[in-house]
Amino acid sequence: MADVVAALDVRYPPAWAEEWDRVGLVLGEPTTPVRRIACVVDVVPETVDEALAAGAEMIVAHHPLLLRGVSSVAATTYKGRIVHRLIKADVALYVAHTNADVADPGVSDALAARFGLTGLHPLHRPRPGSPADAPGRGIGRIGQLPVPMTLAELTRHAAAVLPVTAWGVRAAGDPGRMVRTLAVSGGSGDGFLAEATAAGVDAFLTADLRHHPAGEHLAAGGPALLDAAHWATERPWLDDLAAHLRDALSVETVVSDLDTDPWTVHAAAPRPDKEPRP
Ligand SMILES: [Zn+2]
Repeated sequence: MADVVAALDVRYPPAWAEEWDRVGLVLGEPTTPVRRIACVVDVVPETVDEALAAGAEMIVAHHPLLLRGVSSVAATTYKGRIVHRLIKADVALYVAHTNADVADPGVSDALAARFGLTGLHPLHRPRPGSPADAPGRGIGRIGQLPVPMTLAELTRHAAAVLPVTAWGVRAAGDPGRMVRTLAVSGGSGDGFLAEATAAGVDAFLTADLRHHPAGEHLAAGGPALLDAAHWATERPWLDDLAAHLRDALSVETVVSDLDTDPWTVHAAAPRPDKEPRP
């Protein structure tokens, strides 16, 4: 396992993570042999079930299991139960979060690839002088769509090329607006609205967008917004992660397609006044 940790630490150095983040090896005995690695966005009971059933000795996750101060991992708690199951099964856990977001290639490169974006550059650059600061690195990517399309077309396209979720994709702005330049940011990109505007892109796709910031952003003339499911924007990275692990080490990988987005139901009433029927 020490070799896997070393390889991951090279591609996603923990020093590149945001200060509030908690990344790297969470659980595990470095001398344990690792033959199979499970790649997941979230460490939840269902993805742990998958990893154990697949015979993985290690899980590499995007989201930290333990982010804030922890004073108990008793099995009577939700996260403590997960910790117990992993330790009893001798399964290690490694997290690459904002250090994988900022990396090149990173989480948003895999998202950008789903749209065939070209001429990629970062949306949010690391703080100058910070450990992650280097050309090409940063959170989110900006690129050109292979074929310009309207916002309505792009929204349907996004729903088709992203992993399927109940949430799907919703968009904000003029449905007829032409989109050539697209910014994408895997996960919660709420904080990068001003940077998307400053970059002069036609649209910005991310997750977890909210009423007031989105409305005020559009009222100020900012790019159109596409709000996808958080899991769906980060799941594409798992394929890149798994391919890298197979190439760098002689290990097998399993990639979880279990949708860990909390939203499970979506309904839309017909709105012929806003959206032309197909
Ligand atoms: Zn995320």
